[in-house]
Amino acid sequence: MNKDQVNGSSKDACFDYSKISMAVRDILQSIGDDPDREGLRNTPDRVAELYQDLFSGMRCDPAEILSVFFEENHTDPVAFTDISFNSICEHHLLPFYGHAHVGYIPKGKIVGASKVARLVDGLSKRPQIQERLTTQIADAIYRCLGATSVYVFVSAEHMCMTLRGVKKTESRIITSAQRGEANEVQQLIKIIDLSKS
Ligand SMILES: [Zn+2]
Repeated sequence: MNKDQVNGSSKDACFDYSKISMAVRDILQSIGDDPDREGLRNTPDRVAELYQDLFSGMRCDPAEILSVFFEENHTDPVAFTDISFNSICEHHLLPFYGHAHVGYIPKGKIVGASKVARLVDGLSKRPQIQERLTTQIADAIYRCLGATSVYVFVSAEHMCMTLRGVKKTESRIITSAQRGEANEVQQLIKIIDLSKS
């Protein structure tokens, strides 16, 4: 797997503020509203500003985030639980949000909680699907830190499910990814399960 596959984004992705603003204006016109009426006048610019934040992960490089680590001969499980995230479903451009739980068994390299939180944040803030987000977090920890085993559990609500179509307001999607030794992964699953109860 090359860096771009771990990264999950193309390197030349850049943010065009005015193009987004114009596109939002077009959307407002296309639904039959008047983008020049007072309440909507600044909406295109506000949405463009919002998108700059919502899609700031387009420029996130997991390898760079995880390049700051501590060398430590700790070979027992480490888990970061209840890391909240907000992402945008690439099929409908609506938010999905929830929590990620990340466990790993280090092999000489450990990272701080803020780095894992930044990793989850960076990989979330781009057009995503939950399955790929889960895989990308696991691959980043496994490859960039050289962990012997990794387990990632993600639980999220999707607004495209709650707002439209089937309207299942209480339901969540659960995804998980595991890398490495099966018996080590079992230890990580147990620790993460304990933290959830
Ligand atoms: Zn969707």
